[in-house]
Amino acid sequence: MDKINNFDELGLSDEILEVIKKKGFEKPSPIQTLTIPLLLTNEKDIIGQAQTGTGKTAAFGLPIIENTENNGITQVLVLAPTRELAIQVAEEMMSLRTNREIGILPVYGGQPIEGQLRRLKRGVEIVVGTPGRILDHLKRGTLRINQLSYLVLDEADEMLNMGFIEDIEKILSQTNKDKRMLLFSATMPPRIVKLAQKFMGEYEEIKVSPKRLTVDLTDQIYFEVNSSDKFEALCRIIDIEKEFYALIFCRTKLKAQHLGNALSDRGYDAAALHGDISQNQRERILDQFRKKRIRILAATDVAARGIDIQELTHVLNYSIPQDPNSYVHRIGRTGRAGKRGTAITFITPSEYRKLMHIQRTANAEIRKEKIPKVKQLINMKRKRIIKEISEIIEKKTFDDNLPVAYDLLGDHKPDEIIAALLTHAYKDDFSPEKYAKIRDVKGRTDKDNYSPDQKGTTRLFIALGNKDNFTKRKLADMIKKETKIDSRLIRDIKVYDNFSFSDVPFAEAEQIIKAFRRMGRDNKPLVVKAKPEEKKVKPNFSRSKRKRR
Ligand code: AMP
Repeated sequence: MDKINNFDELGLSDEILEVIKKKGFEKPSPIQTLTIPLLLTNEKDIIGQAQTGTGKTAAFGLPIIENTENNGITQVLVLAPTRELAIQVAEEMMSLRTNREIGILPVYGGQPIEGQLRRLKRGVEIVVGTPGRILDHLKRGTLRINQLSYLVLDEADEMLNMGFIEDIEKILSQTNKDKRMLLFSATMPPRIVKLAQKFMGEYEEIKVSPKRLTVDLTDQIYFEVNSSDKFEALCRIIDIEKEFYALIFCRTKLKAQHLGNALSDRGYDAAALHGDISQNQRERILDQFRKKRIRILAATDVAARGIDIQELTHVLNYSIPQDPNSYVHRIGRTGRAGKRGTAITFITPSEYRKLMHIQRTANAEIRKEKIPKVKQLINMKRKRIIKEISEIIEKKTFDDNLPVAYDLLGDHKPDEIIAALLTHAYKDDFSPEKYAKIRDVKGRTDKDNYSPDQKGTTRLFIALGNKDNFTKRKLADMIKKETKIDSRLIRDIKVYDNFSFSDVPFAEAEQIIKAFRRMGRDNKPLVVKAKPEEKKVKPNFSRSKRKRR
């Protein structure tokens, strides 16, 4: 099976192969190689261990679309943990549709139900939804799921973590027995296996390594910058890049509009796309963007939905995404179809923790870079111009301009002519004054410095040690008992006579500190963040050398 290198070896129809070609997918990803033939041939249910970013949506989406009829009956239900994922899956499936008009609808909470009701009434073949909202529709009788061909549980572990198990069971109990079930999950804890055993028939298990399609080809960078300097930082980044064909994500419509205007004012081919832009205008802007007449689009998440352009060189999060799913979704717009891309995220100093949370949850590697200095930028631009002009000289593609050159040479010195031509062509491009100052981001406060390190973990100080009869095991058990945190997350425990240390992911660290707040001695909390100098504590570190807090 591993030897399959082409989509046309998987058993898909020509119609679907055409869609894949249009999408720009060159070869199937491992999860697709394994899942598609199984779905097209045998009848068993499937459990797939794969993360978002591995191409799993197309892995189930392509064969499902192949086998779905355009008859107004809901034949496919995909359950996803969050509204972002529901939208993402629905969009990806929509982009895989052939000419047969199959209805695909994302259904999630927070969106007015009326629109969903109208659409469902007209008949939708594939429904992608979050468990809560799907249950709402089932209770109202506005969705029927008793004629399903496929039921997909996407990111099942996330759904269980979010406490959706009862909702899922209620939904499953209303489905017909003779459907095929697919369960995808990044991890396979026993709870998932139990769920599968309870509701699924005979199933095949598929596992792929967590190599991500999107992230593989996407270089991920973040810049720490004060809010008021973001625009200047953005301009410097655009200027230093040889090519910048990008989608810039803004949090609000207003921000997107301001940014689009400000970039245009500064001379870039930019525009804004958001909910207040009419459909006509939207289409015109997107057309220009596709033709690269507009090269930078400042957009809100909602407005950027459905934009599917393969060649984007950059995606830039002008404001940090709200959650890891949204991050993965946004950056998935670049580095597509075998092309390299760069994902840039701006964070203000106070957003560092949020970024670490995203990094950890999305299993992403996001490296920090410094905003280019003006001197560096100007040097770079000069080098680029020299290279470009040298190429024109080598190719001798300047014949039409020779008469003007001779005229000018008759009256002026050659160095002055060249400098004047550069000014004429590039205006103030090489002038340092063109760039505003960017303030250094102040070093994070001491308080923050006690917080997560690059790996997103926090070292905790626990005021219990050997003298209190504590061992590594006992400590992990105690934390688990009080907080229900998985003991595998409580790492690198060191127990000393009077106290101990442990590394935990920072979100869990907050939880632990909160849980033990009232349990200390002498009004001192039992667990606090370790001070930076304690992060590498020496074994002979004794209580007498440090004051207890
Ligand atoms: P997913 O894991 O379903 O969220 O997919 C992640 C991204 O990879 C989406 O943007 C897909 O369009 C893209 N993708 C899926 N399959 C392929 C493929 N075979 N080649 C290139 N990109 C793909």
